[in-house]
Order: sequence, then C-alpha cells, then structure tokens
Amino acid sequence: MAKVEEPTVEVKLFVDKEKRKVLFAESDKEFVDVLFSFLTMPLGTIVRILIKQSQMGCLDELYKNVEDLSVDYFQTKACKAMLLKPLNAAASHCRRLKINIDDTKPRAVYICRNTSCCARDDCEFSSFPDAACKCGKTMQYGRDMPENEGDSLAPDGGGLESGVFGKGLLKFVITDDLIVAPASTPLMLSLFERFGVDDPENIEETILQFNSQKIISLLKRSLTSKQPLTRIYFDATLVSVDADLDVLPEQQNDADEKVNIAKMKVLRTKTDSLLYVEGDAEFIDLLFGLLSIPLGSIIKAFGQWPPSGCVDNLWKSIDGSAKGCVRPECQSLLLAPKSAPFGCAAAKVLGVDELAPTVLDINCCFRCLKNYGFDNTVQCRYNCMAIVKSAKLYELNPRRAPKDRSGNSESYVKGGHMRFMVTGDLHVHPLSISATLQVLRDGNVQTEELEEREIGLTKFQVMEIQRAALMGRAALSSVFLPPNKKKRKAESRVASRAES
Ligand SMILES: [Zn+2]
Ligand SMILES: [Zn+2]
Repeated sequence: MAKVEEPTVEVKLFVDKEKRKVLFAESDKEFVDVLFSFLTMPLGTIVRILIKQSQMGCLDELYKNVEDLSVDYFQTKACKAMLLKPLNAAASHCRRLKINIDDTKPRAVYICRNTSCCARDDCEFSSFPDAACKCGKTMQYGRDMPENEGDSLAPDGGGLESGVFGKGLLKFVITDDLIVAPASTPLMLSLFERFGVDDPENIEETILQFNSQKIISLLKRSLTSKQPLTRIYFDATLVSVDADLDVLPEQQNDADEKVNIAKMKVLRTKTDSLLYVEGDAEFIDLLFGLLSIPLGSIIKAFGQWPPSGCVDNLWKSIDGSAKGCVRPECQSLLLAPKSAPFGCAAAKVLGVDELAPTVLDINCCFRCLKNYGFDNTVQCRYNCMAIVKSAKLYELNPRRAPKDRSGNSESYVKGGHMRFMVTGDLHVHPLSISATLQVLRDGNVQTEELEEREIGLTKFQVMEIQRAALMGRAALSSVFLPPNKKKRKAESRVASRAES
C-alpha cells in the first residue's frame, strides 16, 4: 500500500547566494491562503502550536498562568479550554486549506447525558469540554458537527479559480518580509531595484516544499523576524528581540472611559522597580482574554504588531497590494477576524466582534439524543413515539456556572473578593502572604524600601497594558512606572540577553 504522504505546498524562492538572502518568493494561492490563515488564529492557539515559545511579549507566560492556575479559580472547568484551546471563528474556511496548522477540534458537540436533567427543555450543547449543565452535571462529548452545519460563513465552493481566501489563477509574489502581491512585470522590476539586482545571473531559483512543520516554523519567524523566508532557507538561529516601546506609535487617547475594574494596588520600591500589581478577577480576565483574540484583530486594534516581526505586512497586504486577489467576502474575515461566540472583556476593550452562537438542527427529540446518542437518527419513531421528530440545539456559554452557583458568565475567572498578584512579566498568583514574601525575597527588597499606590484604570490604560503584554517582557513595569525609559530599556535588554 502506498504511504500517505504529508501535504506540502510548493514555493519558489529567489535567492541572492552572495548576500545569503531570500529576495522574494513566488507561489500559487494555496501558499498565500496558508499565510493569510495566520491572521484568523487566536493568540492562545499560536502560543500552543509554538509550544509556548512564541516569544510574543508575555503571552507564553500568560498561557502558562492559565495552565497552572487551579481550576477552582475559574467559573467552570471549560474556561481553561476556552483560553488554552480557543476556537477559530474562521475554522470552516481553514479546514479547506491545503495545510492547516491549527489542529484545534472546532466542531465537537458536548451535551448533558443526564436523562432526568432539569434543563432538558433548554436543548443546550457546548463547544468545549467540561462545561456545566444547569443541572450541575458536566457535559460530555456527543459527536462532531457534520460539515456545513452551523457554518454561518460556509464557503461556496467557488470553482477552480477560488481559493480559501484568495482568488484567481495567477501567481503571487511574497517578499521576505511577507508583503503579498499578484505577480506582474512592474512589480518584478521594482523588486529588482529595491534589492539592487543588476545582474539576474546572481539570483538563484530554488523550489522549497513547505510541510506543516515548515509552515509552523514560518509562523514563528513571521512573529520574531523581518526576514522569515531568509531565516527558514538559511536556517538562521532565532535571536530574541525585545520590542523597543519608545518607537511604538502613540495610541489615540479618545476612548478614555473608566472600565469596570476595582482599584488596583501597585507595590513598588522607592527606587522605581515594580514588584507586583494587585488586581481583581476582572483585571486578570482582561489579560487572560487576550489568548482568545485572533491575530488579525490584534493587528487591527494596535495598528502595528509585532514590532520585531512582519506578520502585520500580511494584514496590510489584504487591503493593499493584494486587494484584488482576496475574495471580497473574506476581506473582513482576515482584517477583523471575530472571536469565538461569547466574547470576553478583553475583546470588548479591543473592539473585537464575536461570532453568533451556533444553532444545530437534529432530527430527533433532545431526550432521544440523550438516550441514544447522535448516531441513531430514527430513534424517535421507535423509542419515544414523539410526534416532534426534530429539534434545535443551542450553543451555551461554557463559562456559565451551574445554577446553584452565582457567577458572571462574561468572565473566565471567578469574581468575588479574590485578589491576584501580577508581577511585571505577567506572572499571576492568587494573593497570599507567602507569595508576597517570595517576591520580596526574590527581589532582595527591604520592607522600608516599599511603596504602595492605589490606582483606577481607564480603558485607554487597559489597552496600554494589553499592548505592553504583546510587545515586551516587562509589560506592567512599562505601564505603571514613571517614564524612566532609559532604565527600563536597559533592563529589558538585560532580560533579552539572559534569555538568548
Ligand atoms: Zn443537565
Ligand atoms: Zn424522541
């Protein structure tokens, strides 16, 4: 029997061997579709695929926090899955990619199997494991959603010329820093000029087959390098580059409204070093929620990101150099990708829309579904004799706590009086005396050096914290400490040197 071969996409690279540089690449739309799909991926998925070595600001740390924090601090057990394995709202498109590196299972259906469930008339299902039914039981795996069911954005097929996101039969040119454009003579000439190519003899053409491992590697390099193709081809080692927060464009301050977060306490030394920030569940939610936001919407919210990478050039190409080659119905899917249903506080602050919850049609009653599962489709006739032979299942918010517990289903982390400490590099701990002592010991700080301040946050400041968390390794220090920038930069350089 023939071995099943792993799918690959072919890319032709134009290499300046002397300068050891890939000048640009040429490909069909299959490769460009895969590149564009990066924008639809939630940040938590990117961190997971890159095995917590994405080097995106503090996001690897943030992801580990969610993994490590006891499930008791979350509204439901499902909240962890929502952050660690967030659903891609464009999954129905991405599953048509030649190579889909997002291995999140997007279409699993979980239901309460309790036949005497008090909520049996609600006909609810969850898209995440371990959601809680109103009756208190945990929802269990039922089946995967059939294809095309619940797809509000199901692609139309579109024939030969139609790709997943791209269209047409033409070739694409992709620069080393991931600007995508349809191939044309004027473009080629301008590229030759840009790279100072006098003699075409100096350019070597090489075919590279990208398998999923290479695509993952390209994703990582697109976040951390301005020359991802060169780095892939010459297998250059990655250097961790920390964002220089000084060169970031100033954000508009017109959205300066208060957000619903209790006042926070900042513990710092008199010599301006931040020990930690004490915040409530709402504050932690604004940080954790970042993991559920798709990359494209993050780039939209902050204009430019990440400073050390070039994946934002993909985003800019969609409404720029590649505009005519992107299917019109996919433009907003890539420029402002939605988050999965039941968005969160972080998405609200960033202005990210959420997908509407799914309604599933089943061809039996809900009770027969519980009793006999999804596979048997004629059970009502033989089993319950019900006249109604079809029903609708409604997607529930997996953050909703069972009836006997009060809770805010808008947030992942349980509210109440719980306080958390967040260190400068976004390490989150439930607040305790021993955790405080540990921070003091680690920082070698005497108690007389300590200074405590209380602050309330505006929406603008929350966005600044989110932005800092995406950009650098010292997110909170860069927002909460006075603008002693020189010292801060020196610190972040030391940190990046220590890590590389
Ligand atoms: Zn139930
Ligand atoms: Zn039935």
